[in-house]
Amino acid sequence: MYNLTDKLKKLIPYEPIKGDFKIRLDANESFLNAEKTVIKEAIDEIEFNRYPDPMASGVCEKFAEFYGVSPNFVTAGNGSDELISVIINAFLPKGAKVLTFAPDFSMYRFYAELAECEIHVEDKGENLQLNSEMMIKKTTEINADCILFSNPCNPTSLGMTRDEVRKIITSTKALVILDEAYMDFWSESLINEVQNYDNVILLRTCSKALGLAGIRLGFAVANEKLTFALRSAKSPYNVSSITQKIGEKALSNQKLLRRNITEIIDCTQKFYSELLNRNYDFFDKIYETKTNFVYIKTDYWKEIFEFLLDTSISIRAFEGFLRITCGNEVENNAVLNALDLFKKEAKNEDF
Ligand SMILES: *Cc1c(COP(=O)(O)O)cnc(C)c1O
Repeated sequence: MYNLTDKLKKLIPYEPIKGDFKIRLDANESFLNAEKTVIKEAIDEIEFNRYPDPMASGVCEKFAEFYGVSPNFVTAGNGSDELISVIINAFLPKGAKVLTFAPDFSMYRFYAELAECEIHVEDKGENLQLNSEMMIKKTTEINADCILFSNPCNPTSLGMTRDEVRKIITSTKALVILDEAYMDFWSESLINEVQNYDNVILLRTCSKALGLAGIRLGFAVANEKLTFALRSAKSPYNVSSITQKIGEKALSNQKLLRRNITEIIDCTQKFYSELLNRNYDFFDKIYETKTNFVYIKTDYWKEIFEFLLDTSISIRAFEGFLRITCGNEVENNAVLNALDLFKKEAKNEDF
């Protein structure tokens, strides 16, 4: 009989929130859908009988143009998730010490465990804010081979300045995987200087600010040596022709992308202010946001999560916290109305 390894026996498939909900604010997607004409055009241009370009040169060039980097430093992936997996598997030997922080993006641990790394999870402490001092101390203490974090952070919505991140990078020989999945919503990116460091791989994704979660497209930016290694380690045809072509067209429309990003930022800040203004006494803290979602500390996370699900609104619940993706104005108002209703009912039930 074939036996699964112990490591595999413990795993279960990733499952986002189950069910059909009218309003989906649980995955930090953009509330703006892609332009369909562009996608139809892209489909028309594809030679479906041919393999895609293994280097995804066209889309990497457009990405590089949009962010003002050299395409020589860019590698495309089937979502940044794939890149995290490839990097961990290819760059780190079994047993390598990987330092992550909690709370942070859950997939880091998943891939590191699968690659049989030794994982160290450091708690961010009461204010949930990462700081270079603590990170450097911990990196040295455990002699980490790799340090991995998101900036701005999912789920806390907080960010670290460029200066802070630079301090971390220059203090260590460990590989720094800097996940800037939400940096389109903030202005402290290191994307224009990663090539100056020999230990940094920066990740970006088209799934959040660029509104293309459906096509699965992410990018790694690093110096030439690391880029060459990454391109060599990935599977050759990892990004499909459809994704490459649609990504290329979408990234060419810089004006539209910038307008959409601004709209999402404005909408998030408005939603955040509105949540603050309503002074809900069941929220302990609403964290300032550098992203397209808000993170909330509350003892009533379970009750509120269930209450919103009952009104067909799905958000993300974590032990003691809620994360709500910014939707469009109608969706955000639906959340606010539901919270008002929760407040009323909570009063009646006296809790
Ligand atoms: C959503 C997210 C990603 C995953 O992006 P894909 O490109 O869709 O795989 C990576 N990192 C963080 C922190 C995210 O929130």
